[in-house]
Amino acid sequence: MGDAGVRTGTAIAIEGERIAAVGSQADLEREFPDATRIDCANTVITPGLVDSHTHALFGRARYEEHEQRAAGADYMAIARRGGGIHSSVADLRARSEDDLYALALPRLRRLASYGSTTIEVKSGYGLSVDDELKSLRVVRRLGEALPMRLIPTWLGAHEIPLDHRGTDRSRSDYVALLLDELLPVVARENLARFADVFCEPGVFTIAETRSILTASRSAGLGLKLHADELEPHGGAELAAELGAISADHLASISAAGIEAIATSGTVATLLPGTMLFLGKHRQAPARRLIDAGAAVALATDFNPGTSPTFNFPLILTLGVSQLGMSAAEVLIAATVNGAAALGLAAETGQIATGFSADLAIFHADDVREIPYWYGDRRCRSTWARGKPCHAYGAADNLSA
Ligand SMILES: [Zn+2]
Repeated sequence: MGDAGVRTGTAIAIEGERIAAVGSQADLEREFPDATRIDCANTVITPGLVDSHTHALFGRARYEEHEQRAAGADYMAIARRGGGIHSSVADLRARSEDDLYALALPRLRRLASYGSTTIEVKSGYGLSVDDELKSLRVVRRLGEALPMRLIPTWLGAHEIPLDHRGTDRSRSDYVALLLDELLPVVARENLARFADVFCEPGVFTIAETRSILTASRSAGLGLKLHADELEPHGGAELAAELGAISADHLASISAAGIEAIATSGTVATLLPGTMLFLGKHRQAPARRLIDAGAAVALATDFNPGTSPTFNFPLILTLGVSQLGMSAAEVLIAATVNGAAALGLAAETGQIATGFSADLAIFHADDVREIPYWYGDRRCRSTWARGKPCHAYGAADNLSA
């Protein structure tokens, strides 16, 4: 991860949806004399950023919780009062597919305006058969409408919904609903590429996570876990054992968890924006993970409760300033390793012949400026599969 392969004075030839060649401008002009030229002087071009962890499909924003936390309420206390995920669930259930589509579309464009061209989007604010399927169908529609590559993940196990906490219907009924009623439809209609579980004390146990993910794997889905965010819980070890494509959060990962991830093919996806926004004074041990040999990815965790940011480059800033990563490491984490965390390592995340023509073009002279100008939007334009998906300024007036 220490070498981002930075080249200077380089031209990129795009044919259709693919990168046809990377080389000197003179060579490429000889090889492709009829190509349309796009002047990228005084810019840095990176692979389109791969945001491998978002909850971008939601209804209303939850700014009131931001203040409540500042006044001392913690995440679990807000959840117990029916806030947090539960308030997003009640809100999403009341909305139509068209309403959710109209809310998500400008948000996804806004993510692209900061450099992202591949965006994972989770369900998980429905938590019923109808509302989870509604969410995933909206993600599919969005993916058909937008130039960016959207990767849908089924997170039916985001939380035990309030209507399964009484005596009539229990949490085990909810797990049964996920496995018997939802998973078969998600798999049959090909509505998600991955299944994800919020594996955390007070949410889903290790045993529940194991049963949900094992069944999901049998149904043909790849596996992801929200693991070891608040307490070390064995989530990272379980992710490695099950062959999950990624284990995400990991702010409280144990030494055994680091060892398990580092010796597996599971990507460690770190979400430093979430810890910053929650006001936590600790971060995932990125250095220890990298030094142990783990593949580390970074992502926004874009969601209405704990990480309402569109700004992926800001997450790279946090990677350097909070996680102790180098500029090369944060760039690899947001491109090559983000792609690996979505099973797309051979498709996107690199500027190389044969890869998808997914590019982000930044106003900068040096690649290290991308994490340096923190909070700024230096992205001039993004290209996904050879097509422009954002020109600087186009998303300026879109509300969140
Ligand atoms: Zn998440």
